Amino acid sequence: MSAVAGHDELPGLMLRVGAATDTGRVRSLNEDSALAEGGIFVVADGMGGHAAGEVASGIVVETMRELATRADLTADDITRQLVLANQRILAAVDAHPEDKGMGTTATGLALVTAGGADHWAVFNVGDSRVYRSIGGVLTQVTVDHSEVQELVEAGVITREEARVHPARNVVTRSLGTDYAYQPDVWVLPPYAGERFVICSDGLTNELPDERVREILHQHPEPQIAAEELVRAAVEAGGRDNVTVVVVNLDGAMGDDLSVTSPRASDEDTAPRGQLSDKE
Ligand code: CA
Repeated sequence: MSAVAGHDELPGLMLRVGAATDTGRVRSLNEDSALAEGGIFVVADGMGGHAAGEVASGIVVETMRELATRADLTADDITRQLVLANQRILAAVDAHPEDKGMGTTATGLALVTAGGADHWAVFNVGDSRVYRSIGGVLTQVTVDHSEVQELVEAGVITREEARVHPARNVVTRSLGTDYAYQPDVWVLPPYAGERFVICSDGLTNELPDERVREILHQHPEPQIAAEELVRAAVEAGGRDNVTVVVVNLDGAMGDDLSVTSPRASDEDTAPRGQLSDKE
């Protein structure tokens, strides 16, 4: 996967990305797919037998890739493209009934315009994740669509218990498995010096958040960070495919950015899903 050298839409700032994936120690196929192109970064974790999961996650990545060359994207464009990816997966199942049951998660971030300024749109369907690191503090931006997340929110189990729970792989929303999915989209102002980790659950089921934070902190170079995160997850067990995309928005902390643009309307900034306050 290629690195992105800078981005026209964030003058004075350098967007750099690293990506890595591994089949892991148990699975015979890697059904994860990833994209890092233009201002769009995606991880999709496919599911379904006989390589169908790879087809589903690949459709998501190819569909999102179509946005990579478009200027002035909005968060609504991202939602629409995820809807389109869902339709394409369902159409692929119609054409190839042997792939019935295939589906995929989709999560990531994209540079969009909101309130007249550059923003990130973070999106999610399923239990892959986007983390954001500012000043060495790592927070999970996305909220998992999973059975164990429901148990965490109900106070039945802790976040750490969820990570090793037998039902940890059961997702409550995905692309391709039904029509009634809804992507969550959060719109965030960019912040110089911030970093994002986009990953499949093969990373987070093997490594606690604190370990992810440590490894990220140890490796400022995004490609090295992505490789080291994947390596650590495989070493910790590698029971699933592991995929990581790391995005750095390089620049001095507190640089003048879209953060200082006129306040966007509530409609622009209101999260469409709930913001995670788990950390
Ligand atoms: Ca997985």
